[in-house]
Amino acid sequence: MAGQHMALVDVDPHAPTEPEVTIPVFKRLCAPQGLATKRQLRARGLRPGGQGPVAEVETRGPRNGLLYEIAKARPVRPMTLAKEYALDKAMAARQTCRSCHRRYHFVLPTSLTSCLECHDGTPADPATYTPPPAPGAHQLAA
Ligand SMILES: [Zn+2]
Repeated sequence: MAGQHMALVDVDPHAPTEPEVTIPVFKRLCAPQGLATKRQLRARGLRPGGQGPVAEVETRGPRNGLLYEIAKARPVRPMTLAKEYALDKAMAARQTCRSCHRRYHFVLPTSLTSCLECHDGTPADPATYTPPPAPGAHQLAA
């Protein structure tokens, strides 16, 4: 019979537009080489990088772990730390009083170069700032 060898496509008008992709599931510790979970990628300094999981692996937990292709993984953004440091420096400048050098947990009014306590004597809540480093103390961020 003609056409019988062809794969039948079951068209369901109520099916979600995004068909559920079936990916292989491996037993615990039986995942093939070249695949890794996000945590394993992370341990190598990698991230999935846009690829979707290609397989699952059974875990001791209730949910399967998702496996990604190591070959398609991308390095964790190397700029992150430097960017964070730069951002923190910029933030610190906006949060630190230039008079008493306390660093507040909020951005100081841009019209002032000092905190309110230095500006007009309004006492600052000690819970809202980090005291300035003691003289002679080691400054890790210096
Ligand atoms: Zn101040």
